Amino acid sequence: MGTSVRLWRLVRTHTRAFSTTRRQLDNYAFVGLGQMGFQMARNLQAKLSPKDNVRLFDVNRGAMERLAQEMEASQAGGAAVSFADSASDVAQAADVVITCLPETKHVKTAYTSILESFRSSSNSRLFIDCSTIDPSSSREVAASASAYGVFVDAPMSGGVVGATAGTLTFMLGAPEHLLPRIEPILLRMGKRVLHCGPQGSGLSAKLANNYLLAINNIATAEAMNLGVRWGLDPKVLAGVINVSTGRCWPSEVNNPVPGVVETAPASRDYAGGFGIALMRKDLRLALTAAKEAGARLELADKASQVYEAAESDERCKGRDFSVVYRYLGGKE
Ligand code: NAD
Repeated sequence: MGTSVRLWRLVRTHTRAFSTTRRQLDNYAFVGLGQMGFQMARNLQAKLSPKDNVRLFDVNRGAMERLAQEMEASQAGGAAVSFADSASDVAQAADVVITCLPETKHVKTAYTSILESFRSSSNSRLFIDCSTIDPSSSREVAASASAYGVFVDAPMSGGVVGATAGTLTFMLGAPEHLLPRIEPILLRMGKRVLHCGPQGSGLSAKLANNYLLAINNIATAEAMNLGVRWGLDPKVLAGVINVSTGRCWPSEVNNPVPGVVETAPASRDYAGGFGIALMRKDLRLALTAAKEAGARLELADKASQVYEAAESDERCKGRDFSVVYRYLGGKE
């Protein structure tokens, strides 16, 4: 069956009966159906009411086709679904626009098209950008969107596993008075919304956290490698650290030594998890934002070098960032 036929059938299956009592906030647009967005859009659609509409768009038509197939197969009900041909088409009738795109340049391109599509200004339209980009670019996009609605940043943590299970944590940068409107939307795709302050502050919080994570991960790999080389059993060493002052998420949950934590990526050849490329991206964004704020980061350049070198090592490329332990020559 061809793409257009299948998409058309899906739209027909989900199209709601005409209603004269139009509720506020029933038209959603979702842009960016990649690893995260695909699962988020699926959860959002399934948890909305049949009275709602979701219009979806990705520059990759294959992603839309896959999502159409999945929604058709699941018969989960939820909102009526349609697929757009362009970013300018996807949001025209939307009250809420959600974007989940790879980098700043994609967010800027998408919003240029989206904003051009509006014929009238509005202060009730809501733009929720879940992409991880730098806070000042996010503020720029927010300023250009201001005539057409309110733009907020809601980067997330929890990875593809959390996006699939609908258990993401969102770090929200938004005016306080909009929380009652934004939270229920995000909670259809996640389980926690942490309001960090005004627009841009969700991204600042996310980048500060991920900077710390980048350093903790390398330090944990070094400390574990050190202990093992001194003859310590890695499980014993992790047990000591995890009730002592060195305890951190990489030591306790994502321990880099295979077999210490059975559920950690290290115990499955570092597959899945948080890829080195994403860690490098977040570090780069944190460095940019730190320079703008005049904040001194002594360890950032070194950490970036470590991740860059690990990424170019064939044994480590594309794996969870805890693979730094392997890069250091840790015993597996
Ligand atoms: P991805 O590369 O898998 O998906 C991005 C999607 O956006 C792709 O399908 C691409 O075709 C589409 N796209 C690009 N430009 C577009 C445009 N102009 N209009 C419409 N669609 C466009 O990325 P991802 O892993 O889903 O990540 C999305 C964002 O979430 C990133 O900013 C990432 O840093 C962040 N994030 C990812 C993870 C993760 O584990 N993957 C975790 C937390 C946060």
